[in-house]
Order: sequence, then structure tokens, then C-alpha cells
Amino acid sequence: MTCELCGRIQQGEWTLSDFFNFHQPQMLSICEVCRQQFTRITGPVCAECGCQSQISPCAECEIWLTAGYPAIHNQALFAYDEQMQQYFKQYKFQGGYHLRDVFQEMLAQRLVKVAPTMIVPIPITAETQNQRGFNQVSAWLEKCEINEILTCISTSKAVQSMKTRRERLQTTQPFCLVTENLDLTGQRICIVDDVYTTGRTLRHASSCLYESGATQICTVTLAR
Ligand SMILES: [Zn+2]
Ligand SMILES: [Zn+2]
Repeated sequence: MTCELCGRIQQGEWTLSDFFNFHQPQMLSICEVCRQQFTRITGPVCAECGCQSQISPCAECEIWLTAGYPAIHNQALFAYDEQMQQYFKQYKFQGGYHLRDVFQEMLAQRLVKVAPTMIVPIPITAETQNQRGFNQVSAWLEKCEINEILTCISTSKAVQSMKTRRERLQTTQPFCLVTENLDLTGQRICIVDDVYTTGRTLRHASSCLYESGATQICTVTLAR
């Protein structure tokens, strides 16, 4: 099998148990060498956004918290470096659906540790769904039980329904619930996204779920 990132031929290591159980050794779409090139975030980290930082909350998060946004306690697994950007490029923009297998196991393990009552992936717009064909976050989580309860507010619909320019500018919330009046009382929710950039997306998603009664919210992103 050829590594999807570097093109090297991967050698599968057969174990005795593979041999007796007649199954192929498990192989990911990328090789071990490429996997080693992703940078794990090991800490110390900012407890709010998950970036590598000596101070917590970091200066950026201090601004969000001072502005009154609820804490999201983001946990990020990897640095958003060149290797990760290359992976995202192929996975999201070059039809790399099969590359979802690279991080499935790691994300599932992290979510087991977080132990929320609901796992909610950040949704993609209908336009992205048409172009890409899949939600990159949900595809990582296909072995987990997820609740796709958030959806993107269609901009054209939202803009039409608002009368004044001022109203349009004030409304930045891009998400709403798929079902109106969904009761999330008592739910400890973990929102999952691909990368934490400014944190705006996760904070909007979080507000939307808190408004519907969620008791506790934290977030997990693959990269930061
Ligand atoms: Zn490789
Ligand atoms: Zn931070």
C-alpha cells in the first residue's frame, strides 16, 4: 500500500495473531514516517484554547473571557503546522475522504477520556457539503456515537429575514439547532472541530447549545 502523503510503499507488519485470525494487519492511509511528523501538543497549555503556553489563559483567551464569553476549555491534539496543513489540504480539498482513518482512533480515545453525554461535531454549510461531499469532523468520528444537532443558518435566509443593516451586522451566530426547542438540560456536551483558529466558531456553537439548556460544554479540536 502506498502512503497517501509521501508516496512511499508501506510494509504491513504481520503478527502471529493476524496470521491465525486470517486478517490483514491494520494499515492507515499514511505511513509511520509521515505520522511521526505531526507535532503533538504536550503542554504546558492554555486551559481555554489548548495552545502551547506558559500562561493560562493565554492573552488571546483573556480577551474572550473578559468579553463575557463562557469558557470552552478546548483540548487540541496537534499543532497546526506545515505537516497538518498538508494533511488538511488533501483531506478536505483534494477529495481525501479515505484520509479520515489517520486520526479516528486518537480522537475516539480522547473523547472516551472527556466522557461527555453528547458529542456534537461542528456542521458544514450546504455549499461545502455539495463541494466536499462529507463533513470532515463527522468522518473522523464515524466510530463514535455522535449527535449532529447543530446546523448552519443559511446566510441568504438569515439576511432576508432581517430588516435593518444594523440587525444584520449584530447577528453573527452562524448556527442553530436542527430541531427547534430541543431540550439539552443536564447534557454535558463536547463539541468537536478540525482546527481552533480564532475560537469564534466554537464559541458561537457553544452559546447556541447553552441557550438550549446544556449544563456543561467543552471542546476538542484536532489542531490548534
Ligand atoms: Zn508517508
Ligand atoms: Zn488560550
